[in-house]
Amino acid sequence: MPTIAYPIGKSLYLNITNQCSNDCTFCIKFNSRTFHENDLFLITEPSFDEIMAAIDAFRNFDEVVFCGYGESLLRLEMVKQVAAAVKQKYSIRVRINTDGQANLVHGRNIIPELVGIVDSLSVSLNAADAETYMRLCHSPFGAAGFAAVCDFIRLAAAAIPEVIASIVLLPSINVEACKALALSLGASFRVRSYCDG
Ligand code: SF4
Repeated sequence: MPTIAYPIGKSLYLNITNQCSNDCTFCIKFNSRTFHENDLFLITEPSFDEIMAAIDAFRNFDEVVFCGYGESLLRLEMVKQVAAAVKQKYSIRVRINTDGQANLVHGRNIIPELVGIVDSLSVSLNAADAETYMRLCHSPFGAAGFAAVCDFIRLAAAAIPEVIASIVLLPSINVEACKALALSLGASFRVRSYCDG
């Protein structure tokens, strides 16, 4: 049975789609259909009621995180609906882990639509330059993909309380250059291991 919500520590992670706007070489979903013993391969994308029921089945969490085996912001309207409902019902933190391509996907700046219902964005920067980004993430938008991630981080940092630009620690990555770029965009910086949530 596919998992919609799964806890890690005091965070409750939501797996609402397996669609993605990137095709990263390091993506864990290409190696395993399970994460922390949860089957994250969805048969169908869950409805609002199914997502809320999955959340309601847990207690003792202080953060909800849109993450899972896909890019949650491809389902932007669902993210907004669930985030608003979580805020109203639980008054807890809402975070989105994202590839930062949403403004390209939706053809507009979607950041203002997240203000007030999202407390934190963790954006996968993944590289310090477009060439490395393309090699690792295979953005369907080509070189525009990396520029869009940088723009997304900059816009988010001006509007969302917490914005973290992250990289996965891979041998080919210039960590210091990524950190400098993240900070210049107004975000904080985080290095993730391959399997972090
Ligand atoms: S953006 Fe995330 S879920 Fe999508 S392919 Fe890359 S690592 Fe996997």
